[in-house]
Amino acid sequence: MINLLEQELQTHDVVCRFCGQKTFTVIDLGRLPLANSLSTTCDAIAPKYPTSLQVCSACSTAQLAHCADKEKLYLDYLYVTPESDMLTQHYADIIHFLQTKNYLKTTHNILEIGSNIGHFLKFLAPNVQKILGFDPARNIANMARANGIPTICDFFDAKNAQHVAKQFGKQDIVFARHCFAHNEKPWLMLEGVTEVLQEGGLFIIENAYFPDTIEKREFDQIYHEHMYYYNVRAIDLITQKYGFELIDLLASDIHGGSMLYVVQLKGGKRSVQPIVKKHSEHEKNMHQPTFYASFTQTIEHNRHQLTSLLRKFKRQGKTVHAYGASAKSTTLLNYYNLHKRKIPYVVDSTPAKQGKHIPVTNNLIISEEDAAINVPDYYLLTIWNYQDEIIKKVRESGNQYSGFIIPHPQLKIIEGENTSRPQHSRIMPHRK
Ligand SMILES: [Zn+2]
Repeated sequence: MINLLEQELQTHDVVCRFCGQKTFTVIDLGRLPLANSLSTTCDAIAPKYPTSLQVCSACSTAQLAHCADKEKLYLDYLYVTPESDMLTQHYADIIHFLQTKNYLKTTHNILEIGSNIGHFLKFLAPNVQKILGFDPARNIANMARANGIPTICDFFDAKNAQHVAKQFGKQDIVFARHCFAHNEKPWLMLEGVTEVLQEGGLFIIENAYFPDTIEKREFDQIYHEHMYYYNVRAIDLITQKYGFELIDLLASDIHGGSMLYVVQLKGGKRSVQPIVKKHSEHEKNMHQPTFYASFTQTIEHNRHQLTSLLRKFKRQGKTVHAYGASAKSTTLLNYYNLHKRKIPYVVDSTPAKQGKHIPVTNNLIISEEDAAINVPDYYLLTIWNYQDEIIKKVRESGNQYSGFIIPHPQLKIIEGENTSRPQHSRIMPHRK
């Protein structure tokens, strides 16, 4: 059995970008469009790129075989940190953890890399002395500034870090939340952090936690912006190589399971907490192909189940729309081939996305207001990471009718609470 699985999970000749050792393929999603490059017209031809997830057989770092160009991905960016109670609670949890552990003080100067429109910094501001954001997307940095968050618009590297140190002084904490995996050469970020970090300072990374991605079957976390998928072992090895030391962790449920890594410069005075060793132990088989066998099998099983369900609903005359035009929605809709004839509309609250289409599958993105008068029998919840929040929002909008299809880890249906459609709803014309 093991030999057969190892044959299926063939070894590619892609080498690990961190340690140069061989990698093996965990899942090959074929050619997918860039997840946040929404099409402005229906049936526009979107370029597609290979999307194969490899794991290093030595250091267990997971990485895409093919990295897209960073300028294409980030200079004009559509992802804006959403308004969300779950995120607000998460920020409060992070700050509480850092204060309790004495990592964060009111005298601190804080730099955040990949600060987006500055939500986290705004939340952090009353607890620290100074905040500064760093983001490469021009449109996003402008929104942050308009929001009162000082933001430098560029990619973060050693040269830019020197500039920050000179102009704003060295920083007590540098955050890189959900961006350390987002570029081909994360070591450039580590080099930059060494330039700008105060002696005794901390570098705090947060990312989707790869063991959760695997255990919860979240294959749609795989897209071109996510060039790396980290576990504790990988972060430990990578940061060590560039003169740092991983000392503490905070696990959370955000974005389908995330990990916050607290890192100091090697030789720093803080001691390594036992939780680091505990997690590394749990991950000890992640450099072996057999660890991933049930993941790839379940994805195929779920794909079959969902497409069969949609066929059945179509025969019964039931309508299905998707909820959430996030990056993971593009992966899910494309890999499952859920084009506009199967799922005509995707609801999303971000105005910049509305009126655009998911690339290749061409599902039209509509606002929550349009969704309230265009009530489907079911929503495929593509932003399953906000499940409770979205269901509550839809129910509070007066829609007790639509059911929800949850795609992971196993396909699950949550039926609507009323059997009759809301009075004001109407069916939008069928999309050709
Ligand atoms: Zn490696």
